[in-house]
Amino acid sequence: MPQTIHILPELLANKIAAGEVVQRPASVVKELIENAVDAGATIHTIVTKNGGKSFVQVIDNGCGMSEQDAAVAFERHATSKISAYEDLENIRTLGFRGEALASIAAVAQVELRTRQKADEVATVIRIEGGEVKEKSKDAADYGTSVGVRNLFYNTPGRRNFLKANNTEFKHVFDVVQRLAIAHPEFRISFMSDDDSVLDLHPASLDERIKDLFGERLFESLVPFHDSNEAIEIRGYVSKPDFSRKTRVEQYLFLNGRYIINRSVNHAVFQSYEHLLEKGSFPFFILFLTIDPHRVDVNVHPSKMEVKFEDDRSIYRMVLNGVRKALMAHDLAPSLGKSGYQDSGSGPRAAYGGPIPVHSWQDLLGPKTSEMVDRQTGEILPGTELPDSPFPTPHSALPIPESPFPIRHFPVWQLHNKYIISPTREGLMVVDQHVAHERVLYERTVEHFSGQTQSSQQLLFPQTIDFVPGDAALVQQLMPHLEGMGFVLKSFGKSTVVVEAVPPDVRPNKESTILQDILDLYKENEHDVKLEPRENLAKSYSCKAAIKAGDPLNEQEMGSLLDQLFATKNPFVCPHGRPIMVKVTLTELDKRFGRPV
Ligand code: ADP
Ligand code: MG
Repeated sequence: MPQTIHILPELLANKIAAGEVVQRPASVVKELIENAVDAGATIHTIVTKNGGKSFVQVIDNGCGMSEQDAAVAFERHATSKISAYEDLENIRTLGFRGEALASIAAVAQVELRTRQKADEVATVIRIEGGEVKEKSKDAADYGTSVGVRNLFYNTPGRRNFLKANNTEFKHVFDVVQRLAIAHPEFRISFMSDDDSVLDLHPASLDERIKDLFGERLFESLVPFHDSNEAIEIRGYVSKPDFSRKTRVEQYLFLNGRYIINRSVNHAVFQSYEHLLEKGSFPFFILFLTIDPHRVDVNVHPSKMEVKFEDDRSIYRMVLNGVRKALMAHDLAPSLGKSGYQDSGSGPRAAYGGPIPVHSWQDLLGPKTSEMVDRQTGEILPGTELPDSPFPTPHSALPIPESPFPIRHFPVWQLHNKYIISPTREGLMVVDQHVAHERVLYERTVEHFSGQTQSSQQLLFPQTIDFVPGDAALVQQLMPHLEGMGFVLKSFGKSTVVVEAVPPDVRPNKESTILQDILDLYKENEHDVKLEPRENLAKSYSCKAAIKAGDPLNEQEMGSLLDQLFATKNPFVCPHGRPIMVKVTLTELDKRFGRPV
């Protein structure tokens, strides 16, 4: 078949190219903000409607454009930032590819208003689907405003890929938040659907971090700073016990540009060595300053990936810099060792190492069988209690309400992590955390379906101030949270008073459980496409469940096993991990060389 090759019309080419630069409202906001920063603006106003799907506007007080420049700004490859190949190797601006405005205008309805300080009137250009519809003059403040309506109005296929308003809002929020971290000296206002989401005044970095993430998180941060002739690193990392269950809160900036770089993230993570619990990630803000000649930021149109000339020395510098800072903060004794060492005596002393066996009692673990009267569940006098995280009379599990009888066969706890119990065919080893997770998960699903309904009323309601992004998420999830047993009252935009929590929340956790759930919820949102209630049930059960490391007494273990076996699936946790491992007598017999 004869083929004819032809050059695509410019409008179509722009529409195709737009796909690389503009994926969603947040990418529009990112590009417009970058232009404002490059224009030297110090005041940035961001306005969105419907998560940015129907409207995005960025207003700045930067240098503005002349009438002439405004007319060409929407052309493809139109840029004032570089002019020769050599410039590409020395990029000091956020933009340089000259394709953002052309790409945005190809897939939306755009209005540009721009005025340089010296000019009397502003130039106004209206452009739709890449076609200029109107050029005029108007009175306006100096600086630039770009309004973008109905993103992807002419590319329905792409429009259909956009997510719910609040998801798109969250992405926009992340972009604005990154600007706010990179430039605490900027005045930034962010309005969404006529609500003020952020209203930040110029501040120091410390103050800005407090404004965005709250005092509590700030207190948990350790500053670091290091430099040599080629590289400077500075920023904050969280102390290990304030680490997050999500990778999302890792902010890395290279010469003022937010970037994603696995190697640097890994270096930060590594500097904690064994200080982090498995599955935890440090919160960090890291500013890298490197001579632009030594990095290539022109790897992808979104400009978030970069190539370093010398990956390894950056890795080493971050690793050492962060490690030094952590060590200076009294965390040194644990660093460099292969785990925590406990100096106490008894089985706990060997935690993390092989158990020295002196007697059968050592093999069986703590003398749990002597501590609790099996009939009454009472603690026998003269028994030394392990330091339980559950102050009496509360208990890890709501034992008094348990409809199940207390077991009459023995249970042991292994390394405060696994429960061992004989079975008819041999023995089972149960992971206490995932077992409890399964129990709570099913209970939460029951709550949602309205089969049961209960709450723990708090004697002292807890007031929680959320950062704006989380406040929006709480509002969005409010009906579901109430379905779980939370009783929440909103005060203003970001303050929530917790009056009651679900029945299984442990004492001392009332004030943190909601934030914990939100953190995990956000992480799950990134990983998998989960229905909100399913995500909440998973996040809640993981966060409210007893943890590895929590000592349990015999009664608590017995009750947990009873409740586990009353669930629909006692063998697999909601995330698909096994809950128990069984070892049969036949297997043991084989291993001991007994004739089977
Ligand atoms: P790039 O930023 O890569 O140069 P853009 O398409 O984003 O490409 O912008 C094209 C040009 O329009 C910029 O180089 C700049 O000269 C001008 N421009 C865009 N936005 C602004 C703004 N907010 N203030 C001043 N000039 C701007
Ligand atoms: Mg740009």
